[in-house]
Amino acid sequence: MKYFILFGPPGAGKGTQATAMVEKYNLHHISTGDLLRKEIKAGTELGIKAKTLIEAGCLVPDEVVEGMIESEFKSVKGVEGFLLDGFPRTIAQAEALDQILAKTEEEVTAVVSIMIPDQMIIDRISHRAAIEGRADDANVDIIKNRIATYHSQTEPEIEYYKAAGKYNEVDGIGTIDEVRERIADVMDKF
Ligand code: ADP
Repeated sequence: MKYFILFGPPGAGKGTQATAMVEKYNLHHISTGDLLRKEIKAGTELGIKAKTLIEAGCLVPDEVVEGMIESEFKSVKGVEGFLLDGFPRTIAQAEALDQILAKTEEEVTAVVSIMIPDQMIIDRISHRAAIEGRADDANVDIIKNRIATYHSQTEPEIEYYKAAGKYNEVDGIGTIDEVRERIADVMDKF
């Protein structure tokens, strides 16, 4: 199985691009954000706890998302691999992912990082707020906290994956089609 990670700050376009890539390469899309929003909608205990954290622009605990990922890996069949979107988001999650995959003697195939500047994050998320109605998109202070969380907790993964020789970066500025081409150029190699 192939395990691709679509990496980047909130609002970089991971979800949009993931949808196209899973079709092109017969992968299963796992978005931890989408999985968490489903739990919130269903009103589960996990969802209730996650809601407060998400709407403050914080991360949910590592164990929560790690458990979600492992059960998706086990339950989804008939694909050539997985495209992870929004996971891992901390070094601890990256290490946990390596351990989960090591159980079946597998490993991360490649990381594709979509890069955009902070100001563009705010513009894009504010625009998305009107379309998708996410509470964590509606307030500029929450968006700023998510950006800060990204820089402090998620960005250090870049060095982690560079050290593992798995890191690939594409420019996230441009049209959806232009960015998609850049991502496909990387994924075609694997
Ligand atoms: P975005 O890419 O715009 O931040 P996501 O849908 O990926 O949107 O995530 C929304 C929120 O869900 C995050 O701000 C965070 O609170 C929570 N979340 C998603 N994935 C993770 C994760 N891997 N670890 C911890 N929290 C997560």
